[in-house]
Amino acid sequence: MNFGSHVDGIVAVSAALVNAATPGERQGRAYELPPAGQLATEIGEALQLSSRYEGPPAANRVRAFVEVAEVVRPVYERLDSGDVDAAAHAVNGLLARYGARPKLERHDGQPWHLHFHGPAAEDRSGWGGSVAMALATVLGSDYADRLGVCAAPSCDRVFVDVSRNGTRRFCSEACQNRVKAAAHRARQRP
Ligand SMILES: [Zn+2]
Repeated sequence: MNFGSHVDGIVAVSAALVNAATPGERQGRAYELPPAGQLATEIGEALQLSSRYEGPPAANRVRAFVEVAEVVRPVYERLDSGDVDAAAHAVNGLLARYGARPKLERHDGQPWHLHFHGPAAEDRSGWGGSVAMALATVLGSDYADRLGVCAAPSCDRVFVDVSRNGTRRFCSEACQNRVKAAAHRARQRP
């Protein structure tokens, strides 16, 4: 999948942000949000997936990133359950919420490329507009089915499937191996 490296990077950020900053289950265990300091580090790691990385968020911006993660998660869940219409409406909601506006920018020796910053008041993370626009690009393409939720039991982490044939089902190798091992054990039972 390739929407241009900038969009691909932001889509990857959106999944990593959901996985770091929404509670639920991760790879067989309950996942609670870590303390603020550690959460900021994990959000920083998510942001590194984009060329727009500017370091981990300051403590007073962590909550704004959690908000972005919370409103992005339903997009993945609806696409995973095949409800593309609901996912599209959710993305339209994100575009409106963050007032994503295109603007060509050039920085750090890169060629001109589109950024989608929203007005600061509605987008305190500074990433809501970019994430909304990147998800809109995916939803408006032939690759909407590439966003999903892990199919392993006791895991609800999300993923972007960039494999050639688009058959990814799990958030991680850990979950893939868990499911394989469970199937193997089931076959061994008399
Ligand atoms: Zn998983």
